[in-house]
Amino acid sequence: MSEKCIYRRSAVRFKLINYPKAGLAVVIFCVFSLVGLVENASAEHNVTKRSFKNTVRCIEDGRFYRNPDRAVHKMWSNAECTKYYLCLDKEVFEFKCSVGLLFDVVRQICDFKQNVDNCDITAEVRAPKPLLEAAQCPESNQLGCADGTCLPNEYFCDGSVDCPDGSDEGWCDVDNDPNAADACDPSSCSLPDCFCSKDGTQIPGRMEPSQVPQMVILTFDDAINFDNWELFSNVLFTPNRKNPNGCPIRATFFISHQYTNYQYVQKLWNDGHEIAVHSVTHRGPEDWWSRNATIEDWFDEMVGQANIINKFGNVRMEEIRGMRVPFLRVGWNRQFLMMKEFGFVYDSSMVAPFSNPPLWPYTMDYKMPHTCTGTKQLCPSRSYPGVWEMVMNQLEAGDFHCGMVDSCPPHLSPDDVYKMLTHNFKRHYSSNRAPFGLYFHSTWFKKTEYLNVFLKFLDDLQRLPDVYLVTNWQAIQWMRHPVPSNQIGQFEPWLCKPRPLEPREVACSLPNSCRLHSRVLQQDRYFFTCNECPAQYPWIRNEFGLD
Ligand SMILES: [Zn+2]
Repeated sequence: MSEKCIYRRSAVRFKLINYPKAGLAVVIFCVFSLVGLVENASAEHNVTKRSFKNTVRCIEDGRFYRNPDRAVHKMWSNAECTKYYLCLDKEVFEFKCSVGLLFDVVRQICDFKQNVDNCDITAEVRAPKPLLEAAQCPESNQLGCADGTCLPNEYFCDGSVDCPDGSDEGWCDVDNDPNAADACDPSSCSLPDCFCSKDGTQIPGRMEPSQVPQMVILTFDDAINFDNWELFSNVLFTPNRKNPNGCPIRATFFISHQYTNYQYVQKLWNDGHEIAVHSVTHRGPEDWWSRNATIEDWFDEMVGQANIINKFGNVRMEEIRGMRVPFLRVGWNRQFLMMKEFGFVYDSSMVAPFSNPPLWPYTMDYKMPHTCTGTKQLCPSRSYPGVWEMVMNQLEAGDFHCGMVDSCPPHLSPDDVYKMLTHNFKRHYSSNRAPFGLYFHSTWFKKTEYLNVFLKFLDDLQRLPDVYLVTNWQAIQWMRHPVPSNQIGQFEPWLCKPRPLEPREVACSLPNSCRLHSRVLQQDRYFFTCNECPAQYPWIRNEFGLD
């Protein structure tokens, strides 16, 4: 139990919106590990107190709830909506959100008032568990709802409610979906299109670790603009930073639309970096991506952003291959259905539980080789042949584990950060050589000391003859056709021969600076592109900015 809770504690990114979760997760950790720790947690986070003479009834289902006996005929007050309870071994613990936040009983977190709409609900009602085969339905292709209604088995976990009691859509994770992907079968899964292993740690091509070039994958999320351009163009990706094959080091950029400068995007693409999508709106609440986004929403957000990048950054559509969900909120089967339909090659949003050795990326043909980590995450349960998951291994930072580098504890000294980078690199380099991912938001580098230790770490990497900084797509290409280190110098996908680009594909030096109004955002936005200015600020469902 404690490992799961430590993960929750460490998985939190230190953005304002996530602070309530930090508090909550620490409390969960403490309650489960040792009651005696609760006092410490409360002193530190000011969110909980242990209540010995509690009058609140126990609802013991392992979930937080509101006082079921509060005066329901009265309108709920903010004060009431900040309090919540957990019952363990018939003992009720009382919690309180930090000032300014309310408790969301569905998402089980504290959040800002505008994101919480269930103050009148005591506890989340869960759909009953369907009977499935136990219903003994007359037709062989039917399964039973909880109330005994028989329906075709493809109606179960297809994203729309069909059972009268809703039970066909209530139990749809990897372990409960009756149509879930099978466990990895290595005998019928072979490269280049399928790759799986029982525990996810196997090396493609069954190579010896010493023969495997160590891939390091740097990724950057969100907008690219004046704020981080200097970092990318003049600090990190300078001509002297080269891989052992003499080609410049590469990174992957997951781009969200707002505030992005598409001249810069085009420039990065020209320079051989990978451009991938991270949605148009990057909207909240975080949970929307897992729970509420429909397949249409997924298309509008991700394919919409691919369209914007293609239209205003002139990046070839066929080279936009990957996506990462905002807040790493995996979108269950809906996200992957969209990906398959559109032809995305890979997702990189799933954080694996911390493991030694780390995991290799895999295809979604079979059941994923790890549990679905994170608070109320919804991982896909079905099979998506050929779609790659560039799984995110966590970093180890003392007692913490973190998915993104900037989600590691903010109090780390530059020396701690350097040690953390080195230690985690070694966990990959000296074991199965799974690609070593370092996932950033560019603001992390604003701390000059962090930037400097990172550059020092890059210098260290450049001294190793078999370490390559590659894009996600370059990593996938290696996995599809694994080549040992001693031949990697000639591996075509990692070379850097100049590509023939059409004139319009070459980034301009002076972009059009368009001041555009957005009806949706009700504000003006500056928009930079080498193409002509659109009439409106491009946005979801109007990605070309038509009037
Ligand atoms: Zn983001």
